[in-house]
Amino acid sequence: LTEACLAAIETAGALNAFAHKTPEIALERAAAADARLKGSGETPAMCGLPIGIKDLFCTRGVPSQAASRILEGFRPEYESTVSQNLADAGAVMLGKLNMDEFAMGSSNETSAYGNAVNPWRRGNDDTPLTPGGSSGGSASAVAADLCLAATGTDTGGSIRQPAAFTGTVGIKPTYGRCSRWGIVAFASSLDQAGPMTKSVRDAAIMLGAMAGHDPRDSTSADLPVPDFEAALTGDIRGRKIGIPREYRMDGMPDEIEALWARGREMMQDAGAEIVDISLPHTKYALPAYYVIAPAEASSNLARYDGVRYGHRARLAQGDGITEMYEKTRAEGFGHEVQRRVMIGTYVLSAGFYDAYYNRARRVRTLIKRDFEEVFAQGVDAILTPATPSAAFGLGEMTDADPVAMYLNDVFTVTVNLAGLPGVAVPAGLDRQGLPLGLQLIGKPWEEGDLLNAAFALE
Ligand code: GLN
Repeated sequence: LTEACLAAIETAGALNAFAHKTPEIALERAAAADARLKGSGETPAMCGLPIGIKDLFCTRGVPSQAASRILEGFRPEYESTVSQNLADAGAVMLGKLNMDEFAMGSSNETSAYGNAVNPWRRGNDDTPLTPGGSSGGSASAVAADLCLAATGTDTGGSIRQPAAFTGTVGIKPTYGRCSRWGIVAFASSLDQAGPMTKSVRDAAIMLGAMAGHDPRDSTSADLPVPDFEAALTGDIRGRKIGIPREYRMDGMPDEIEALWARGREMMQDAGAEIVDISLPHTKYALPAYYVIAPAEASSNLARYDGVRYGHRARLAQGDGITEMYEKTRAEGFGHEVQRRVMIGTYVLSAGFYDAYYNRARRVRTLIKRDFEEVFAQGVDAILTPATPSAAFGLGEMTDADPVAMYLNDVFTVTVNLAGLPGVAVPAGLDRQGLPLGLQLIGKPWEEGDLLNAAFALE
């Protein structure tokens, strides 16, 4: 299996899904898995399954660059908890997957490696399409069968949007379910790792292997990890599925409306009760996210100073430490990352802290309460579209209009702000044959129930 995946990766270079390949490590781990499978003992959940790891995860001795120039040459001496958990479960790492730089983006176009490409095509048109972002390499690799599954991370939608764009399954677990230790930080209060897979069952198995308490991440929850696969009974009779009216956006394409209606019908046919709900603060989620995420990013990215990690600019005679920082950061960070650092620094600055950052934090609390109220009314899960459109063409959205790109996250950011689990599941094709995804949002720590609801849609 590992050899077949390595061969597939070689022939799929045009997808640019893998940024660093690790065939030696893969073959070694595959041989160890074979030995384990031949032995008499119990085999772990993912024994011998070849997977890809997003470049945001630190992997011991293997380039871990977060798709940024500033981390060029960085080979961590440690392994992220999640990738270690996967290795312990027998999974075989094939390499590191392409992504948006520091996970900032929705199209994979901010990557220092150049963008990954979606294996899907729009009708007969061969314009290359985005696999989505930021976990675009993960989505592309899973959709093109270069690996059986991949890790992703999701700060505002980076697992769910690329899953929707490539017809794959992606779950962002409850904040705290997976350890963030060893994952390059973007916005620490929002970041979560999760699996990207070909099916809901695979997602359940892989999430079980990734999750768990980690004393090295103080926000990781000290809760047992349930058997998520056992939750997949397919029985959702009597479950209350909420349809939030605020997600019916102006100008929503017919196809997305139709997809959503189809999802409602499928859940109803499976015996669920569909109820209309209101999440009144939804319209403030995107602006609040684009204050909080850059604020945290500007702080997290302060550590890239040309001293501790990766790239350092060539200095001129007479340059001091300030020039070293400035030149290194100007060369090392791409445009979008620089934009986020500037926005973040601005909203945290003395004169604007209350007006922007504190206000965004208050909005975040209101968004969280909206969800709590709906769940208190007996709603079990919430059904929405995952994205406002199918995958778009690479280069179709430009740097000149960053806000158009940010609008991609309109259905996904609320979930991160509230810390809830959310899953994107493929739900059909649009007129041009491109995959579309639905999103289900669940109660905290109820990923099993949530995956079971997604299972009913699959
Ligand atoms: N597209 C969003 C952003 O650019 C979300 C990214 C993410 O979830 N990592 O911030």
